[in-house]
Amino acid sequence: MSLHGTYDSQNIFAQIIRGDLPCYTLYEDDDVLAFLDLFPQSRGHSLVIPKRAAARNILEIDEASLAKVMAVVKKLAQAIVDELQPAGVQVAQFNGAPAGQTVFHIHMHVIPRFDGEGLGIHAASKADPAELEALQARLVKRLQG
Ligand code: AMP
Repeated sequence: MSLHGTYDSQNIFAQIIRGDLPCYTLYEDDDVLAFLDLFPQSRGHSLVIPKRAAARNILEIDEASLAKVMAVVKKLAQAIVDELQPAGVQVAQFNGAPAGQTVFHIHMHVIPRFDGEGLGIHAASKADPAELEALQARLVKRLQG
């Protein structure tokens, strides 16, 4: 059951937190990490995760950790709106495979939505590294500004 189970410390996001796998970091503090989605559903699709909570989903995370994650979600959504000027911004979170979850470390999706552009297929095609690097530079600068 993907909704219920034990936390796997070898999941992709746990490896990213430990520094065993790279990511396009946008923001990091002691508790929260934000980075670009490698298989984006739109330009600027980002993820925000807790670093200290070994939680698979919203049912398992403690409220203090969730609050810290959401504070970064808001900060990042603002930076994305200011920098990329989307027509909308979607914040999403899935619990269990039937709900669309594929990585079992809780994460919030921040997905800018542009007029006339449909949503890309979930976790389907890998973005161009040069494009991700350019987006990372713009968003990091905006977040620090
Ligand atoms: P979910 O389906 O809600 O569990 O979302 C997992 C997300 O992680 C998807 O949007 C994937 O594109 C994304 N993803 C998977 N592997 C990586 C990775 N190594 N770096 C960044 N994003 C990833």
